[in-house]
Amino acid sequence: AKEMGRNRYEIFSLEMYQQAIARLNLENELRLAIQQQHFVVHYQPIVSLKTRSLLGFEALARWQHPTQGLIMPGEFIDLAEDTGLIKPLGGQILRQVCETLSQWSASYSLGNGFQVSVNVSGQQFRDPAFIHTVDRILVDTGVAGRWLKFEITERILLEQSESIASTLAAIRSRGIELSIDDFGTGYSSLRYLSQFSVQTLKIDRSFVNQMQPTRQGIVQAIVDLAHNLEMTCIAEGVETELQLNQLLSLGCEAAQGYFFARPLPVEAATQMLEGDRRL
Ligand code: C2E
Ligand code: CA
Ligand code: CA
Ligand code: CA
Repeated sequence: AKEMGRNRYEIFSLEMYQQAIARLNLENELRLAIQQQHFVVHYQPIVSLKTRSLLGFEALARWQHPTQGLIMPGEFIDLAEDTGLIKPLGGQILRQVCETLSQWSASYSLGNGFQVSVNVSGQQFRDPAFIHTVDRILVDTGVAGRWLKFEITERILLEQSESIASTLAAIRSRGIELSIDDFGTGYSSLRYLSQFSVQTLKIDRSFVNQMQPTRQGIVQAIVDLAHNLEMTCIAEGVETELQLNQLLSLGCEAAQGYFFARPLPVEAATQMLEGDRRL
């Protein structure tokens, strides 16, 4: 029995060793990919449920790997957050989005209220230098703050630190709006929602998936909460026309999901701006 225990221990430690090596390799590759700017942004349309017109896009990062092809954020965002690499990576993503916005605005009339939403992780948001990064990018690209929206998680608002409060105020003064991403999946506290200026709640895909024909409980509650606090709602992960119609009847303003469009490479997103912008 002792023998077996020892063997088991050795197998376990070999596995852990291999995992640690794999992680280290991925970290090194990620570092190099950031240096070489191997990331691209895909744009998922956000659509008005009432008019079916394009309101803007959510920017989603993809790693263009030289041999493995396109790598999805699920495989690298957590590691980027754990290692602090999300700061330079997030900066690159924001710069790319603003460069694209700058080109779009030179070629098309984007219209009132058109916005690109960018995911901002807690690590970035907690960094007192974050707002300077944002300012530099806005100045370099000539992009107006009101064309941007930052998607943050509930947790950031709950932290109640000085630097987060001042970053929130600075963002607001640049005209950049805020969405709470994956609303309802984290540590919700209703107090902060009115304490800070948040314009939008994003309903997580898991709640949209769970909607029943006769019971839309959680989604209804989130939509009502948003409206009571004078916010709007965006539903994520809408895949069927039934979901679309249910959300519409609940009064949800906007949605994104495979039913309308997948996240698109920049060329396809640009083509959408050239068209009638109906989905
Ligand atoms: P998220 O912010 O909740 O983004 C929505 C995710 O749902 C995206 O996955 C999108 O492709 C996917 N999605 C959209 N519509 C549907 C649908 O109808 N059905 C299904 N099954 N999925 C749908 P993606 O692009 O793989 O991104 C995953 C997560 O990675 C994001 O979740 C976000 O948390 C994170 N992420 C992506 N880009 C960035 C970034 O630039 N910075 C940071 N900090 N995080 C990012
Ligand atoms: Ca998001
Ligand atoms: Ca989300
Ligand atoms: Ca989500």
